[in-house]
Amino acid sequence: MKKNKLIIIGNGIAGNLAALYISQKLPELEITIVGKTDKPRTLVGESTVELSTHFFEALGLGKLLEDKHYHKYGLTYYFKTKKDVNDPNYVVHEAPGVIRLPAYNLNRFTFDNDLRELNSKRNIKVIKGTVQDVSLKTSTQKHHILSVEMEDSEKTNLMLEADWFIDSSGTRRFLAKKLALRKDPGYQRSTFWFRLKKFDRNIFNKISALKSKHHCYDSYYVTHHFYGKGYWIWMIPMRSPDGETMISIGYTYRTEQGAEIVRTVDDFISTVEKDHPIITEIVKSGEINTLSEDVLDIAAYTNYMYESKQYYSKDGWFLIGDSAFLFDPINSLGLSYVSHMICQVAAIISKDKEGNLTNSYIDCHEKHIQSILSLQDSWGKWYEIMHDPVKLSWTLLMNNMSYFNVLLPAFINGAFLDGRHIDVFTEQFKRLPVEQQGPAYPFPKLLDILSEQSKNIDLSCLPNLYSKNIPFGLYKADEKLRKKLFLRYLFRLITLRTAIIKRINWKLNKHHLSVLGESLWDNCVDFVRIILVSLFSHGLVKYHKLDDPDATPFGNNGKFLKFNDTTK
Ligand SMILES: Cc1cc2nc3c(=O)[nH]c(=O)nc-3n(C[C@H](O)[C@H](O)[C@H](O)COP(=O)(O)OP(=O)(O)OC[C@H]3O[C@@H](n4cnc5c(N)ncnc54)[C@H](O)[C@@H]3O)c2cc1C
Repeated sequence: MKKNKLIIIGNGIAGNLAALYISQKLPELEITIVGKTDKPRTLVGESTVELSTHFFEALGLGKLLEDKHYHKYGLTYYFKTKKDVNDPNYVVHEAPGVIRLPAYNLNRFTFDNDLRELNSKRNIKVIKGTVQDVSLKTSTQKHHILSVEMEDSEKTNLMLEADWFIDSSGTRRFLAKKLALRKDPGYQRSTFWFRLKKFDRNIFNKISALKSKHHCYDSYYVTHHFYGKGYWIWMIPMRSPDGETMISIGYTYRTEQGAEIVRTVDDFISTVEKDHPIITEIVKSGEINTLSEDVLDIAAYTNYMYESKQYYSKDGWFLIGDSAFLFDPINSLGLSYVSHMICQVAAIISKDKEGNLTNSYIDCHEKHIQSILSLQDSWGKWYEIMHDPVKLSWTLLMNNMSYFNVLLPAFINGAFLDGRHIDVFTEQFKRLPVEQQGPAYPFPKLLDILSEQSKNIDLSCLPNLYSKNIPFGLYKADEKLRKKLFLRYLFRLITLRTAIIKRINWKLNKHHLSVLGESLWDNCVDFVRIILVSLFSHGLVKYHKLDDPDATPFGNNGKFLKFNDTTK
């Protein structure tokens, strides 16, 4: 029997993960990856989170992760206690223990190569070449026809037919350019990064940290985040293949919010020295990594973000990874977006193959992407408060609550593939035009007062509440969507608000009394929501019946990550 054909453009991480997933979920398809051989080029995206790792584990990549990459024990945030540069103290929020789901800091060069190697041994055809053009299918042309220039000495031209194709051509954005799909994001960012080797790791131990002590893991093996006016810095320890100490360092910024432009290591040192001399001490102790004899592992992107007007088409083309949109890596969610999109595309193809794909199912997923991008808008606004440890730290607490109690469980369970769940999710995380978006931080009136009153920053105004807000035992093998988690999220809204109220030195004046009154009222409203959600089933924990056109084609409760194919 003739097999349906899927072509994947691009032999990078997104294309290879898509091939690995779809070849297991829809083994009846004939899958071909068409990819260029890359010249030495810098790669980025080393920090995974529980969501992306869960996907990788399901794909059978667990051994690679354990053997060749470092565990990552969460995101660690460093908040300066005083504006004074010479004050070396930070309030540090790190995970107070180990969550059930692991995460890893990847060496992307190793990981991407291993993934390619793994796929080359599976039933996936790989063609070395560049897709030059595509003729999209029409009512008279049954298939997409892709024209490919091969990498042989004659540069042979090949015409390939496909029922569907996925564009994962990265920042080259093959299809988005052809169809003029580019759209501007809500807020722009710029970024600069490099990798450092042979540095003195002991300098990390000199950081004077106010934090709750624990003995669960070594505090180095996390993604370290530092902040300043209009910028944040990542430091991601990586395992280098030759055993040298290695770390990825990046500076992401918005000049409109007061950050200085950084395009070279010298710029980085002179800018960061003022706020975080400890980081520049680490940089000066090491060497910049090289990719080949004369290519340094350094890159700078200016105003680099973009989106697309459309991501998925009923006509059978899809954009995933960097070819779809480029974003702010502040919460390390890049590969989580890729994981979501691969499964969404597989679900759409599965329905199309069975002849029951509707426009409304595609629209659900387009809406889901807009909700995800609404988070990018919020994070764009965080740059307004990056120099304010009080506002930023409470914002991060709230952000992690949403991730662990709403986004992550919906992925593990597969509810994000169900139209009914998506409707409620997108209502909660609605994307608004920039001019209608609220303040950058939650509980704005309360945090304005607390921030103004907090002259000295310490653990009393910046408590680390992770053990309370994050469900450390979140994962259970049954992968059911638990109403309890959503209720917990609502309950934690009340406790967070109350925790701020308790820290404010209330005065008997009109403004303070009205803010206090409003906040207590908001607590009552959230309490009523909890009662209503516990009495009546909430849409976030309900799906369509499986025969509904907008239901997931894979079944509920984690079945999207169960495979019949045993060849992995
Ligand atoms: C500054 C920054 C920091 C980031 N940090 C993180 C992070 O900490 N965690 C995280 O999860 N994510 C992060 N990301 C995101 C992550 O880097 C991306 O999600 C990921 O690398 C996307 O890979 P890709 O496969 O889409 O693109 P690529 O890796 O670029 O692959 C695209 C491939 O397609 C090939 N190609 C292009 N055109 C054609 C054509 N016409 N024909 C054939 N082949 C073609 C290219 O040669 C290339 O091999 C970050 C992103 C940025 C910008």
